[in-house]
Amino acid sequence: MNAQKILLLVLDGIADRPCDALDGKTPLQAAKKPVLDRLAEESVCGIMDTIAPGVRPGSDTAHLSLLGYPPERYYTGRGPLEAEGCGIRMEAGMIGFRANFGSLDSNGTIIDRRAGRIASTEPLCAAIRDGVDLSSFGVEFFFEPGAGHRAALAFRGEGLGANVTSNDPKHEQLPPLPIRPMTEAGSDLHTAEVANEFLRQSREILSEHPLNAQRIADGLPPANIVLIRGAGLMGRFDPFPEKWKMTGSVISAAALISGIGSAVGLEPVHVPGITGSADSDLKAKIAYAEKELERKDFVLLNIKGADEFGHDGKPLLKRDFIGVIDAALAPLLDRNDIIIAICSDHTTPCSVMDHAGDPVPIIIRGPGVRVDSVTLFDEISAASGGLGRIQGGDLLPILVDLINRSEKYGA
Ligand code: ZN
Ligand code: ZN
Repeated sequence: MNAQKILLLVLDGIADRPCDALDGKTPLQAAKKPVLDRLAEESVCGIMDTIAPGVRPGSDTAHLSLLGYPPERYYTGRGPLEAEGCGIRMEAGMIGFRANFGSLDSNGTIIDRRAGRIASTEPLCAAIRDGVDLSSFGVEFFFEPGAGHRAALAFRGEGLGANVTSNDPKHEQLPPLPIRPMTEAGSDLHTAEVANEFLRQSREILSEHPLNAQRIADGLPPANIVLIRGAGLMGRFDPFPEKWKMTGSVISAAALISGIGSAVGLEPVHVPGITGSADSDLKAKIAYAEKELERKDFVLLNIKGADEFGHDGKPLLKRDFIGVIDAALAPLLDRNDIIIAICSDHTTPCSVMDHAGDPVPIIIRGPGVRVDSVTLFDEISAASGGLGRIQGGDLLPILVDLINRSEKYGA
């Protein structure tokens, strides 16, 4: 039997280094994970530098690389991808920003950079969409809520540059900063002027919004200022379905990852109950991925959570959460009809509390795969597998070849 479909499962930041608290084992080595080990036993295994050896990937650049879009050519910053992930249809040339709501006191000092982690900002975003007018600049804007206090802003218009600063002073008890151009270019000055006017108008709208009056009456910090950062120019992506001759979907709780998927031409699928943290409904994610595979050739499924424990420097919690992920993956054991690739997007060592450049484990299972003798899913075991050491850009060509859709090179 030949497989026709591919599931790429990225366990975000699950790879690690040996941890003292785990007697020199990595969280993957120390975890109880019968499902991942069974899958590894039935796979060809290896290790992978998602970008290149020693390069410390961001989740965004790593995912671009895994999807076959070299970040050095395609990555223009987090803002436009995050905006796409918040549902703004970013076109090439548009400027995207990450945004969040904060709290200002009556003196114009920022007292909370996350507005008390306000749960929902949709009414505030709607008021800004209705009230702000940038037409005198010839600029159209888009403003959409993200999870919690987060949001995204985008500008569309002629002559906009992306090299501008943030208005976020990064610390509380300071006033917001003006947006400034970072070069002499007229396009960057133009964007700075537009952004400052957007911020001025939105601040007026938010200060008068009934939701904020209610929050103040309830003793909560008002969400009365928008902080923007990470400006970037949206690039042009060769559409995934044309590049790889496959239709595809992306499932991720993180706006950044669904934004990357959407930007390259994967359909973002919303799964109720997923949070991007350790309390996410992982079983629902697997079920939705299987459902998507009924109508699509390729699904990218990102499971977060392990990465957070790495950033927090918590090896025992990371180990235990790997067990939770493992249990949710059980339905995959019965999927002998598809190609399943499981990897991490980067190593997030608990000892570093950030991403590191170490290679990640990768396993590929399914019809036609030359199974090797590796029987465990971890960084060290996988290194002796049949895939050897590959790079992120190698992954899709290998997977597409396994479903016999790659083009012959030569006669
Ligand atoms: Zn990541
Ligand atoms: Zn991370």
